[in-house]
Amino acid sequence: YAKNRQGNAIQLFNSALLNAFKEDAQIERDLALAIKGRQFELYYQPLKDLATQSYIGAEALLRWHHPKKGVLYPGAFIDIAEQTGLINDIGSWVLEAACKQLNLWQRHQIDISMHVNVSARQFFSSNLFEQVWELVTRYRLKPNSLILEITETELMEDIRSATNLCHELAALGVGLAIDDFGTGYSSMRYLKQFPISKLKIDRSFISDLSVSRESREIVSAIIAMASALNISLTAEGVETKEQEQFLAKHLCHQAQGFLYSPALRVSEFGQFLQKSSAIH
Ligand code: C2E
Ligand code: MG
Ligand code: MG
Ligand code: MG
Repeated sequence: YAKNRQGNAIQLFNSALLNAFKEDAQIERDLALAIKGRQFELYYQPLKDLATQSYIGAEALLRWHHPKKGVLYPGAFIDIAEQTGLINDIGSWVLEAACKQLNLWQRHQIDISMHVNVSARQFFSSNLFEQVWELVTRYRLKPNSLILEITETELMEDIRSATNLCHELAALGVGLAIDDFGTGYSSMRYLKQFPISKLKIDRSFISDLSVSRESREIVSAIIAMASALNISLTAEGVETKEQEQFLAKHLCHQAQGFLYSPALRVSEFGQFLQKSSAIH
């Protein structure tokens, strides 16, 4: 009897695993066709400067209009793209699309910076620097208006390559931001070793601000450290007025989150900027 129950459990486990595997395989096949099929779109989430109360940046966030499943968020496909190597083509598409949009904004005197997420595999691919250089040149971008975001764990995967690449990007004037700061295997050493222009405090610290004294202490310490090191700082996932007030009081530079806006399609983003500049 017990043996039978165990057998069923194993069978159940296997079929769940098999389904997940089939699902991933399907995503992988569909993903390979998504660029050609023009199924990707960049959405833009505004970044607010807390001192001036104006919007000074946008983070490009990838959305996939899947022909059958509707809109998919990166959580549903970025890992698969990373594992299969498809991330290289997808990442190139993202960089190009973001730079093209930044060029359009700059031609319309819309002075905001563009943040682009880069995965480890893409960051350490042999031609990332050439690609960025080529785009900055072709689209005549102010180099410091382009900021690449990478997580600290990914950055630490290959310290020697990361050091070289960071210096090359810094020489070009392109910014480098540490995404989800505080959640990885943080090593303060890289803040000394790499030319990092920005830290983005992970939203888990922000969402805890009202309930956790530890989070409040950590966030204010990160703010103080960033100021002392002359590194710009963005708080991610700001959802309430109270969180914004805490951040502003401690002189955090920028905030991003649903309190202001989720990521928007480009036309909505333009309207958002217009509306908010009319208010101030
Ligand atoms: P991330 O870079 O940390 O981006 C912030 C994520 O938090 C976004 O999720 C955004 O929609 C969400 N978010 C923003 N404000 C709030 C808030 O107030 N509350 C909550 N709960 N969430 C908020 P999204 O767009 O689903 O992206 C998830 C992750 O996928 C990103 O995290 C980034 O690591 C990755 N990703 C997005 N676009 C790209 C891309 O083009 N290339 C690569 N390699 N990764 C990307
Ligand atoms: Mg990011
Ligand atoms: Mg991230
Ligand atoms: Mg983040």
